[in-house]
Amino acid sequence: MLFHTVSSEDTTAFGAAMGALLQPGDVVLLTGDLGAGKSVLARGLARGLGITQAMPSPTFTLMQPYRGRIPFYHFDLYRLDDPDQFYEAGLDEFIGGDGAAVIEWPDCADLDPAPALHITLSRLEDDDARAIEVTSAGMDDRMTGFYDALKKWSVKA
Ligand code: ADP
Ligand code: MG
Repeated sequence: MLFHTVSSEDTTAFGAAMGALLQPGDVVLLTGDLGAGKSVLARGLARGLGITQAMPSPTFTLMQPYRGRIPFYHFDLYRLDDPDQFYEAGLDEFIGGDGAAVIEWPDCADLDPAPALHITLSRLEDDDARAIEVTSAGMDDRMTGFYDALKKWSVKA
């Protein structure tokens, strides 16, 4: 499924619409260049779970937990040098457990869990526009629900 947003606020609203549908155990993998909007989208997802507090990027802590309608675990693995560190720190326990896990830079830990939603953000010609591609890894039964909630951002591929 392909979507477009036109501003940072729009991506936050997109994330919030998606976050409202997240369930315990859900995993969302966010890919895209630096500045593509992964953290903006992650904050939107949190908003959709009722989390309103500030969400600084957990660049050095790797993961920051939040309490919303369900637990929310925000990962940023950009600074992870070695995938083993991820497991040594016990961070895998927060994936597919009691809450929703949203992971920026999953490739840094060689993460490819399933079921998961894969979201790829990319810049478009307009500075404030982004393409957001959402695909399912074993979550096909949920995709109609997400699509309905995100229809207003939909782009015909
Ligand atoms: P990442 O986490 O992917 O490195 P961030 O979310 O931290 O990126 O930053 C995205 C930057 O792009 C922010 O400065 C944000 O204001 C800006 N921006 C401009 N347009 C958009 C958009 N449509 N969606 C998301 N961010 C946008
Ligand atoms: Mg980020």
